[in-house]
Amino acid sequence: MLKSLFPTLGRFRLVVQLVMLFVTVYGSVFVGTYMADKISNNLPALSCAYDQMNGGYCVLIPTQHIIHHRIGEGIVRAQQLTFGMVLPLLMSFVAFFAFFFVIGKMFCGWVCPLGTLQEIVGKIGRRFGIGLHRVEATDLGDVKRVRPVKWLILLGLVFLLPLTTGLGVTPHSMGNPFCDICPSRVATTLLTGNTEQLALRVNDNVSFGLGAIANLLIGFMIVGGLAIRQPFCRICPLLAFNAVFQRLSPMRLAKPTRANCGTCHICTDACPMDIPEISREEGRKAYHEDCTLCGRCAEYCPQDGIIKLKWGPFALFASSREYYKNRVKGELPDGTVKPLKFVRNAAKPASGTADA
Ligand code: SF4
Ligand code: SF4
Ligand code: SF4
Repeated sequence: MLKSLFPTLGRFRLVVQLVMLFVTVYGSVFVGTYMADKISNNLPALSCAYDQMNGGYCVLIPTQHIIHHRIGEGIVRAQQLTFGMVLPLLMSFVAFFAFFFVIGKMFCGWVCPLGTLQEIVGKIGRRFGIGLHRVEATDLGDVKRVRPVKWLILLGLVFLLPLTTGLGVTPHSMGNPFCDICPSRVATTLLTGNTEQLALRVNDNVSFGLGAIANLLIGFMIVGGLAIRQPFCRICPLLAFNAVFQRLSPMRLAKPTRANCGTCHICTDACPMDIPEISREEGRKAYHEDCTLCGRCAEYCPQDGIIKLKWGPFALFASSREYYKNRVKGELPDGTVKPLKFVRNAAKPASGTADA
């Protein structure tokens, strides 16, 4: 019977086509739109979704929607992530490395404005005959107890709090907490005559607290800096950040052997960071994470060629007895210089070391 109804495959196919035409165009009239949607929205045939009576529609509709809304917009979000976040971060690191490669931690000892300001304050202290307090083994505490602070500040204030603020966990005012307490922000803007950064923001407690810490730090840096060398540098998170990469720069401090080292510790006395390792250690250990590559240890080491400032294989400066003898005529290793005349007169009989 079937054979008499469909004598050819062609006719059978035509019938199927007509039925399917009806289903695809009017199908939902019989099974309802909801059910039609459930039957299929992934037909591999051009059953148009604009036909409101159809019994299932073509796969290209969800494909386009997925590509448009999920993949396309996803790529845009990924681009935003790449161009808005990853690339700027990458560029910052590339630029940082390009600079850092050339002179490494010399950025601290030779370039940083806050480092320079602290040295100037220290020199004023020496000129006024204010005695030097070493951070090592004094009532101010051991240098080793101070060292972890810079890492904690780097971790907490530079990485963690900005991240938790971005995630909405901590308040917006904690978005760049290190900048809010950074004494360089206050000091360098003051140098331009701008006093705004000294003002405390009273709009919320966090901003007020961070601003107060910044002012305390700048106060400590100025007053404490008269007696303690580089007081802020010791807790500076940039010192810690640079320390992570210090072995990647060819610029370094070299003290390859202690063979001729008299362990006189003059280099540590000369070191503005009070680094004991420069006199006690050799090799990698002598170039400590706190080193700012200022070169004072090499200037004041009285032995020929023990401490060197090197760039790759090239020695830029090497300690020498001759240089040392001339250097101490103007300034002792701990920075002591002849105080100003009126200070000397007021403090008679004045400090022997300074006049030595
Ligand atoms: S330790 Fe910090 S404040 Fe000191 S010189 Fe380096 S970057 Fe500047
Ligand atoms: S100043 Fe020179 S000789 Fe003296 S402890 Fe330092 S490295 Fe050794
Ligand atoms: S170890 Fe030498 S170069 Fe490094 S901070 Fe101390 S004095 Fe300067």
